[in-house]
Amino acid sequence: MFSLFRPTACFDRLADIDLAEVRRQGYRVLLFDVDNTITCWNSGDIAPEVVRWFGWLREENLRGCIISNNSAGRLQPLADELGLDFVAKARKPLPFGYRQAMRQMGGEQTTTLMIGDQLMTDILGANLAGISSVLVTPIDLSREFRWTYVNRRIEKLIRRPALAGVPRGHF
Ligand SMILES: [Mg+2]
Repeated sequence: MFSLFRPTACFDRLADIDLAEVRRQGYRVLLFDVDNTITCWNSGDIAPEVVRWFGWLREENLRGCIISNNSAGRLQPLADELGLDFVAKARKPLPFGYRQAMRQMGGEQTTTLMIGDQLMTDILGANLAGISSVLVTPIDLSREFRWTYVNRRIEKLIRRPALAGVPRGHF
């Protein structure tokens, strides 16, 4: 059961992920959660190191798509700033939004990588969609959507067994 919540790898921060290595691993399409992965919750501010990292993404010819349960109004400005596509109201962890994003970006299951901060939505959804995933540490837990707080409580219980043996800081 815990394997449904198991990511392929864990990293402390988005900007710690080596995109040349991501490419060597065969990934071509990256799907991104937004809140607490790219920005703080409901914030439009993107850290300079994150902006630079998305520049690297383009240099590596990797295609990126935001997949979020948030609205298009929230996602559009971020997607425009970072040069990404997006799928809004994705209803993670259901796999349909992931499949839509893969179709949109021309990604196969074996060449698509999901990156997000929540086991209960981002990582579970990736496993249901049959794709690899990276769990990043949330940027700032002090500001979050109310419902996410409930997820975090459950996540606390499953975190240790779900992450047992998962590589940290590398693939
Ligand atoms: Mg998130």
